[in-house]
Amino acid sequence: MYDILVIGAGPAGMTAAIYARRAAKSVLVLEAVSHGGQILNTPDIENYPVEEHISGIDFANKLYNQAKNLGAEFVFEKAVEIKDAGDHKEVATTKNTYQAKAVIIATGSENRKLGLEDEERLTGRGISYCATCDGNFYRNKIVAVVGGGNTALEDALYLTDIAAEVYLIHRRDSFRGEEANVASLKEKQNIHFIYNSNVTKLNAEKRLKSIELTNSKDGSVQTLEVNALFVAVGRIPENQNFANLVELDEAGYIPAKEDCHTNVPGIFVAGDNRAKAVRQLVTAASDGAVAATEAVHYINGLG
Ligand code: NAP
Repeated sequence: MYDILVIGAGPAGMTAAIYARRAAKSVLVLEAVSHGGQILNTPDIENYPVEEHISGIDFANKLYNQAKNLGAEFVFEKAVEIKDAGDHKEVATTKNTYQAKAVIIATGSENRKLGLEDEERLTGRGISYCATCDGNFYRNKIVAVVGGGNTALEDALYLTDIAAEVYLIHRRDSFRGEEANVASLKEKQNIHFIYNSNVTKLNAEKRLKSIELTNSKDGSVQTLEVNALFVAVGRIPENQNFANLVELDEAGYIPAKEDCHTNVPGIFVAGDNRAKAVRQLVTAASDGAVAATEAVHYINGLG
C-alpha cells in the first residue's frame, strides 16, 4: 500500500511526487509512455521562471531525477481504472493492480487529430504530431503546420530553421497563441501564412504528397505540395479511463477548483487534464504542488 499514487509522469505528476516525498509519504508514479509528457515535444522552453532557456527533454530529465532522488518510485505501466475501496483506492494497470491511500490523476492530454481519411495510415509517412521529434526528417523540404495555438506557432518557428519552406495553415485570421510567438515567426524569411483555411484532404501514394485546403470564406480549394504536415490543433484530456468514478465536464476535463479535489474524496487532479483557464508548464507544476499537499492533508485526516 502506497500513501500516494500519481498517474502520469508529466510536469504535474512529477512535481506532485516531489511534494509528496518531501512530506515523507511513499509515492508510486505510473506512466504509460515516458517521463515528461507533452513537454518532451517543446524544443526550447523560455517561459518557466528562472530557466531562460531549457529544452523540454532536459527539463523532463531534471524533474524525473529530482523526484527519483527524493525516493519516488516509477513504474511504466498504463493505468486503466481506479476503484474506490473506501479507506483506500485501487489502480489497475494493463499488468497489475496497485493500492494507495490517495490518488492524483495527472494524465495530461493527447493530440487531437484532424479526422481526415488516411490520417492514421500516413502518420510517420508525412503526417506528424511532433515537430521536435520528426522535423529533422524534413531538412530542406517543404512542410506545413496546421493550427493556431502556441504549439502550432512554436512548431512552425522550429521548422523554419530546418525546412526550406514552412506553410502555417490556420482556420481563422488571428492566432490563439501568444503575440510574441507570432512576432518571432513573422521575422522568418521562409514562413508562409495561410489564413481562413482548413486541411480537407490528404493526397498520398506511400507517403504524403500534397494537401487540399478549403477556404472557409469563399469555399475555394487549393492544393499544396508538401513533404510533411505537422498537426498541432490542440489536445484532448486523457481522463476517459476514470470516467466510471470521477466526474468529467462536457469537454472531458475533470472539474476541480484550485484545491485540485475531484468529486471523489481521496482522488485529486493536477495538470492539463483539469478544467482550468491556463494550461502552461508553470500551472501544471503548480497543480502538482497543490494536489500533493491536499493529498497529504487527506491522508493525515486534515482535509
Ligand atoms: P490550443 O491552444 O487549444 O490551440 C489549438 C489550435 O488548433 C487553435 O488555434 C484551434 O483553432 C485549432 N484547431 C482546433 N481544432 C482544429 C481543427 N479540427 N482543424 C483546424 N484547426 C483546429 O492548443 P495548443 O496549441 O496545443 O496549446 C495547448 C495549451 O498549451 C495552450 O494553453 C497553450 O498556450 C499551451 N502551450 C504553451 C506553450 C508554452 O508556454 N511555451 C507551448 C505550447 C503550448 P481556433 O483558434 O480557431 O480555435
